[in-house]
Amino acid sequence: MKVMTIYAHPADTITNCGGTLALHAKRGDEVVALILTHGGRLHPNKYAEEWRKDNPDESLLHAGLEEIALNKRRELERAAQTIGISKLILLDYDDNYSVVNEEIVNRIAEEVSKERPDIVICDFPMNTAFHNPHTIATQMAFAGLSKVSLFLKNLDGQEDYQVKQIFLTSLPVSPIDGLSLYGMRNDVFIDISSVVGEKIKAMDEFVSQGYSGLFARKLLESYNGEYGRAAGVNFAEGFYRVYNETHSHLPLTKAAQKSDLLMRHLSYSTMSIREMFPLT
Ligand SMILES: [Zn+2]
Repeated sequence: MKVMTIYAHPADTITNCGGTLALHAKRGDEVVALILTHGGRLHPNKYAEEWRKDNPDESLLHAGLEEIALNKRRELERAAQTIGISKLILLDYDDNYSVVNEEIVNRIAEEVSKERPDIVICDFPMNTAFHNPHTIATQMAFAGLSKVSLFLKNLDGQEDYQVKQIFLTSLPVSPIDGLSLYGMRNDVFIDISSVVGEKIKAMDEFVSQGYSGLFARKLLESYNGEYGRAAGVNFAEGFYRVYNETHSHLPLTKAAQKSDLLMRHLSYSTMSIREMFPLT
């Protein structure tokens, strides 16, 4: 099976679904990440720390967008290796887009047509009511996916292709009901407890945007810990399916069969991130 992520910035793939991707890579699935922008403008946090000091390090003070983006690319390459992402497709657009861009949509369509992934993962397309680069990235991904399905080999030289399933990330945790989100809720949770170390190690690479060290551990504990609480496991990643599923019988997952409401305080609190993965 082939899984492809489509995200706005280099770290998004890791923070949103790095654990799930690590599990797929371990199983032997092919994992490809398509990243639209270099992310240098949005996340130069470590440089900004220096810029705001009274006596900043001169070499960091004059770092340009190109240098910041290159450093971020190296961080991403190391993180991808840890997770088991076998191919990075970096479109390298500047991360200052503010509307859906036809050129980027076409690039996405081309790459999906070439890669032919079974599953695509991207951000939830209605993250906030105001401007959000992740929302626009997913709108472009959807437009690209739609375009691929309209390719005609004789006209476009590329064959039509339709992904089998799309999973969306970044929807807030809403375990019991989706009333606050007009009925939408994460409907698939992946238990990432066994690969939480890989996710932390990958996040530790993103030093330039301040995602390493304590930030990585806090994100795992809070974000994936909260998904885990909803899922009844230590750490999870949450997804929203775009297409309905067809089964031959009513599905009941192993997790549902095992679930014991009165024992959940134990099932989701047996691991301590800061004890298992201390800062070195
Ligand atoms: Zn982002």
